[in-house]
Formats: sequence, structure tokens, C-alpha cells
Amino acid sequence: MTEDVRRVFRMDNEVLAFRFTATVSDRAGPAPRERLTDTARLKMWLGANGLRVRDVSPTDLRDAVELREAIYRIGSATAAGRQPASRDVRTLNTIAAAGHAKAVLEHERAGWRLTETTPAGDALGVLAADAVRILGGPDRGRIKNCEGPGCAGLFLDTSRGSNRRWCSMNTCGNKVKKSRISAN
Ligand SMILES: [Zn+2]
Repeated sequence: MTEDVRRVFRMDNEVLAFRFTATVSDRAGPAPRERLTDTARLKMWLGANGLRVRDVSPTDLRDAVELREAIYRIGSATAAGRQPASRDVRTLNTIAAAGHAKAVLEHERAGWRLTETTPAGDALGVLAADAVRILGGPDRGRIKNCEGPGCAGLFLDTSRGSNRRWCSMNTCGNKVKKSRISAN
């Protein structure tokens, strides 16, 4: 039986690279939760995000976690107006450069040419390339850490007034609203 991907992972972040960083939840809480607990989970997450690959080895999983944490730290540094660590930038660029996936336009949407024979490194390359695009793009000033309780997840604030505070209205935004109501 396959697990329901939405029960395992938070899938509601619009930015692919930030959705990837959300595979650890409650980052700012007392007990952050790692959801990429094994290679099958990584393969599941990739497949659910349009990145089909052949298989995922323990080395791929280690690379994925390293990439994810580099993206998270660079994003958080950017959100705080700090310079990212050069080590993290190096990790990101190395994994981006190692990917061979080609961009495709499919049903009027941008996608990536990946199949069941694609090595996992190509999918990680896609995630790294997406991170490069966001972290170094014109909207980098809109990168924020969620203010939801214990969350600190990365998101791109595309609201007109640049006043969004939560990674997702449905989860963190709601939690805050509910706690306000019960406090009154
Ligand atoms: Zn959040």
C-alpha cells in the first residue's frame, strides 16, 4: 500500500524549492520533524512534484538533504538581509551544475523532461535550479520565513502589500487565527 503523499508532506508552497525545504516541518519548534526519513519517501516526494526518477539511493538521499538544508539556510539569510554562507552557495551550485534535466513546455506549463530512467541527481538538479532562480531572482526581496508557531518555513510573499506572514493561510495562518480566537 502506498502512503497518501498529502498526509506525509506539506505540499501547499507555490515555490518548488521552498516546498522541498518544507519536508522538515516545525523547524523553529522544540522538535523539528524530518519527513524524508528514507529513500522511498524521497522518491515519493519527487514523483508527487512532477520529478519522476529511476530510483533513489542512500547517497541521493544524503545529497537531497544537504541540498535542502543549503537552500533553507540561503533563503533564511536572504529573508534576514544577510549574505548566505559561501559553503551553502557552493553546495547549491554544484548540485545545479550536475543536473541534466531539460526544460519542456507541456500543456502551456513549464516542466522538466524526466522519466523512469532518469537518475535522481537530475531531479535534485531541477530543485537546485529552481532555488537559484528564486534566491537570485528579482523577487528575492519577497522571500520570508513563516511567522506561524514553530514553523519558520520559507515562502515567497507575492501579496501586493508585501504583508503576508505565513507560509500558508490554510495551515499556519489558521493556527494563528484559532489561537487568537481562543485567547479572547
Ligand atoms: Zn508556516
